[in-house]
Amino acid sequence: MHDKTPQNAPGFYDHGQLVAVLTTQPLDRFLDYKAPEGGCHLGAFVEVPLGPRKVLGVVWGPGQGDYDRSKIRSVIRVLDIAPMRQEMQIFLEKCGSYTMTPLHAMLRLATRAPGLGDAPSMRKVYRRGAGEPPRMTDARRRVIAAAEELGGLSLTLNELAEAAGVTASVVKGLLPSGAILEDASPRDTGFPLLDPDHGGKELTPDQSAGALALAEGQQRQSYETVLLKGVTGSGKTEVYLEAVAEALRQGRQALVLLPEIALSAEFLTRLEARFGAKPAEWHSGVTMTERRRVFKMVAQGQAQVVVGARSALFLPFMNLGLIVVDEEHDTSYKQEDGVLYNARDMAVLRASILGAQVVLASATPSLESWANAESGKYKRVELKSRYGVAVLPQMRTIDMRPEKLKSDRWISTVLQAAVRDRMAKGEQALLFLNRRGYAPVTLCRACGQQIACDHCDARLVEHRFQKRLVCHQCGESKPIPTVCPHCEAEDRLAPVGPGVERLAEEVQALFPEARVAVLSSDLFGTARELKDQILKIAQGAADIIIGTQLVAKGHNFPNLTLVGVIDADLGLQGSDLRAAERTFQLMRQVAGRAGRAEKPGVALLQTYQPEHPVIRGILAGDEEAFWTAEADERRMAQMPPFGRLAGIILSGEDLGQVFELGNALARNDGPLRQVGAQVLGPAPAPIARVRGRHRVRLLVKAPRQVALQPALRDWLHPVRLTADLRLAVDIDPQSFF
Ligand code: ADP
Ligand code: ZN
Repeated sequence: MHDKTPQNAPGFYDHGQLVAVLTTQPLDRFLDYKAPEGGCHLGAFVEVPLGPRKVLGVVWGPGQGDYDRSKIRSVIRVLDIAPMRQEMQIFLEKCGSYTMTPLHAMLRLATRAPGLGDAPSMRKVYRRGAGEPPRMTDARRRVIAAAEELGGLSLTLNELAEAAGVTASVVKGLLPSGAILEDASPRDTGFPLLDPDHGGKELTPDQSAGALALAEGQQRQSYETVLLKGVTGSGKTEVYLEAVAEALRQGRQALVLLPEIALSAEFLTRLEARFGAKPAEWHSGVTMTERRRVFKMVAQGQAQVVVGARSALFLPFMNLGLIVVDEEHDTSYKQEDGVLYNARDMAVLRASILGAQVVLASATPSLESWANAESGKYKRVELKSRYGVAVLPQMRTIDMRPEKLKSDRWISTVLQAAVRDRMAKGEQALLFLNRRGYAPVTLCRACGQQIACDHCDARLVEHRFQKRLVCHQCGESKPIPTVCPHCEAEDRLAPVGPGVERLAEEVQALFPEARVAVLSSDLFGTARELKDQILKIAQGAADIIIGTQLVAKGHNFPNLTLVGVIDADLGLQGSDLRAAERTFQLMRQVAGRAGRAEKPGVALLQTYQPEHPVIRGILAGDEEAFWTAEADERRMAQMPPFGRLAGIILSGEDLGQVFELGNALARNDGPLRQVGAQVLGPAPAPIARVRGRHRVRLLVKAPRQVALQPALRDWLHPVRLTADLRLAVDIDPQSFF
């Protein structure tokens, strides 16, 4: 299928020629091998011997030949996957060099599907048959029920066994009676064709103009980035789906990145309605077999559209013409461990290499994207009003200073009255509090100490639902103690402050007749359960919804007309560079949940500082003014996007050693000073200890035009990490932990 290149074309290596292979093994160089019998293409995925093992690699170019030729081994075999395109090789190199990640780690990111080497083959799948087993057991009943639930669909042995919660042998035991049938099915099949003209909506003039601008860009088949800005519910999705349709008409593939798995079920149905079939999906909830299928089909052009999380950016598209980054400001686009990259920025990089279009969609863009649109680097398409009769919610503050609430109460009388009013009308209210668990602090009333994690610089959060204290840093948890670990006083431990679980208690006490639903990521075992719950709530299964950040993102609750923000000041505390921007985005986003259908909504923000410029910016409705002010402040301070930052996190078990390294780096800052960059720190990182490791941070700050990475490389080059010391570089850090 992909062997069309004539065998003597450039980019083909004949049997015995030397090739340089990049593997996913932690080596800082390419390895030379001889091309196998039959030769291999540039970019071919291959299996090569490495010591006693066989490892996955990619033919990156001609061999170096600086090694004893007689000792060079042969490529074992070429895998049945389309060779990596040169554009992808360049992308991985550039992305690695930007994020200062070794190339082998980049390749690992780009091969995150299992069994890539497996031959295209049939596999056995299982489904419900007409038979009944002679002897019924509980386990057997579960298998049959699981198979029936799937209708005519088939699963592999393990998938069916897992779905039923039994061992594979139970499933096999049902074969003789015909209760379960075994079929052979091809492993990896193409995705159904999508029809760009299947089900488009009639667009408003505003939307049409936007869709046209995107379609024209798509037709040019060259690089551009467009900021698609519009209030929640203005039809941004409808508009960028027109760009997807145009990409399909051009015979090109499209990738839609979403920040949150929970969004995708609703979203996939919407795409199915628009294009007549479901696109491919790529995120952590997708099975391993399906991942491999997506990987292969994308490379062969048999998956036209992929909807995915940030790592979908590293899929081997054959002919990618469009990348949509929905909710582009969302912080989950930044991967915070392993390879530290921002999928939004890397999408722009990939598109610029490919000659593709990027659409960044948001109601509240990041300051970076806003500034790029302002300066003309990005194009800008704007939708000014909500679709149809839906109007933006009114936003008002509730000044909490005169409120005389008891110490374990957080809902003001004004907000209570508003909730009561909605309930009387049969409408839904959402109370927003961005704090998981029951109480953020557990305090001993005898000694005044708070209970902290043994391994981290963090307080333990009570989760009453799970009956445990949990560290939100490292995940360690323990049963809620009755005795203070510090002074051993009995029964003097008390929760302080609210989390969503505790807020739910208050709500239940205030509105005993209300049906209350708490939406917090930790209360659901699987993304699926969460999706189901969200759907039920949207259909009216709750009167009052209590939610964390999770509810801020894109879910439609048509009957929701009131949003109460319990603590609008929460995000403003702390010294984070982006605190104002984040609070602004989050509050706007949450408020956007109200009044999505025919009923107008209202958002009430409880605050102790109604005069704070951010709070006033949120209310003013004049977003441009807020961004302009925020941009001015950053420009003055030479902070991103008007200056550049890199974070260096050093960690180790011995605090003295970690600081010693930090001080040495700060002293030897010649390579940085040479380009006009400066080092701040070392200082204990805001979270100074995680999992028993001390963390020290340096911040490198540079003017915008500086080529920062080469200077950082020179600066860090002499570092020899001893013992358990670790060093991580975070280019364009998003958060400051
Ligand atoms: P956004 O992405 O800006 O939040 P959506 O594209 O999700 O907005 O649109 C909000 C709602 O309005 C959706 O239910 C969508 O189907 C509907 N909608 C938007 N534009 C139109 C249109 N032109 N015709 C019909 N329904 C529309
Ligand atoms: Zn911890």
